[in-house]
Amino acid sequence: MKNKRWQGLMVLGMIGALLIFLLAREAGDAPARLSYPEFWQLAEHGKIESVTLGSGDTWQVQFTDGTRAATPNPRATDGKERLLALGIDVREQGEPMPALLLAALALGGALLLLRGGGRGAAGLQKYAAVHADERVPDVTLSDVAISADTMQSMRDLASFLKHPESFIRLGARRPRGVMLYGPPGTGKTLLARALAGEAKTAFFALSGSDFVQVYVGVGASRVRELFRRARKAGGGVIFIDEIDAIGKSRDNGNDERDQTLNALLTEMSGFSGQDGIIVLAATNRLDTLDAALLREGRFDRRIEVGLPDYGERLKILQVHARNKPLAETVKLQDLARRTTLFSGAQLETLLNEAAIRAARREGMQIEPEDMEAAFCAVTVGEERPGKLSEREKRTVAWHEAGHALLTHVMQPEAQLARVTIIPSSRGAAGYSMSVQPDRQLRTRKELMAMISVALGGRAAEEMLLGQDDVTTGAANDLKRAREIASAMAREWAMGKTGDPAADEKDILREAMETARQCLQRYESALQGLAQALLTRETLLEEELRPLLAGIAPEDAAPEA
Ligand code: ADP
Ligand code: ZN
Repeated sequence: MKNKRWQGLMVLGMIGALLIFLLAREAGDAPARLSYPEFWQLAEHGKIESVTLGSGDTWQVQFTDGTRAATPNPRATDGKERLLALGIDVREQGEPMPALLLAALALGGALLLLRGGGRGAAGLQKYAAVHADERVPDVTLSDVAISADTMQSMRDLASFLKHPESFIRLGARRPRGVMLYGPPGTGKTLLARALAGEAKTAFFALSGSDFVQVYVGVGASRVRELFRRARKAGGGVIFIDEIDAIGKSRDNGNDERDQTLNALLTEMSGFSGQDGIIVLAATNRLDTLDAALLREGRFDRRIEVGLPDYGERLKILQVHARNKPLAETVKLQDLARRTTLFSGAQLETLLNEAAIRAARREGMQIEPEDMEAAFCAVTVGEERPGKLSEREKRTVAWHEAGHALLTHVMQPEAQLARVTIIPSSRGAAGYSMSVQPDRQLRTRKELMAMISVALGGRAAEEMLLGQDDVTTGAANDLKRAREIASAMAREWAMGKTGDPAADEKDILREAMETARQCLQRYESALQGLAQALLTRETLLEEELRPLLAGIAPEDAAPEA
């Protein structure tokens, strides 16, 4: 139940995050993302010059006009032939084998020869590096800002580590494995280190991703090595990050992963409470894990580490502000309020960026301006003015004005914070940033409004330029709109026909229609916004207000 709820929140969180700031337009330097069907469509229309295939997540695409894009790597085998048949230049990206792997293979081979082929993988054990930080970490639980019940669980674990005897004497079940799950950057690693620090024991860490693609047997021997060292040290906290890399449910056989996982399971059932060892593992996704991992006596304690709420955000900011001189005018409460859906890691980055900015201007303390600049840098990247042609600027101004106007009309609870046509270092040609209310549940109407707002940039471009001259700048918006529509149709049963593909299409069509009608209805305000953007480039909340003054936010979308 808890798990389900969390997944739902994750999806909402992701959708929220999209709309918080990032109605950003793709610009020149960051390669645009093409969907796989779009890619083939363009390939068949002779628009693609070359494609570089590789083993990464994406294929690099070069268009005949010299621009570039990336498309998801389908990891299917027939793509190359089809591309060649279309007369497209296909390049293979040579993936150099990691030097370590090569060395390991060479050593393994040599050992096999020397020992007459006897104990292949065991011979490698010496070379299997375990990244263990065997000192007691210098962080404690007071450096982590986390929900009260999570903190209580961690305190219990710490007292077990400190006084295992009293637990055992009282007949309490000994904790063995604790699975921390939640989105990245929420402090799972930090919690594990802080637990060791709090209990003053050693900390041993491995990451599941270290095992991917290693020579068969190495992973398993690393796991055994890790436990051996922990035992030798008289106990401690063993932390396995990204456990999904080895603990994915075993649908298709993967020898290496299975062996590693089995070694881990064996080690875990082998130790007794007296060892003073606790194993913590972290994952972003509980649902993909092998059931064997979550069984009694293994990772049978699960602790959810979710995105922080307002109070937790404030605490995280306070923790990281401890060693930073903040001007009195910097209000952490305001900052906490504006950072809905930020992870702890992002909050930490935010303060750090602000400190860097203050240092750069040789200030004595961090001023609100430093915070503001850091906030923009963290959310959309640094500003990089002066990269757009006059014509592009006009397009971007209309595009962003479209998002802004629709946000104002269709999302009455959102706070339109900043709209700009200054390109950013992350590749956005402009963006419209709004702060959305903290929500656990969203209605269909709110989701429809989100999609309309996302499509508003493209709709405004159409009004200005006509169907033929709309630009690739809406690529991200379209992707987001599709993601929301897809979840509505598939996961939340919000379609009309029950056929997911048809529902998704209907939802998108309906939302686009609403966006168009709304922009047409308020065309003069749209023009006013676009004009103001062209002359002033960035509009903040106070500057936006008069431009939207004549328009009352609507609770309902205009009727068709
Ligand atoms: P995860 O393991 O969940 O991906 P990390 O523990 O690596 O996240 O978080 C990275 C950094 O972000 C931490 O070292 C810390 O500086 C900051 N951070 C994240 N969450 C918190 C939190 N709850 N309290 C304090 N700092 C946090
Ligand atoms: Zn956009």
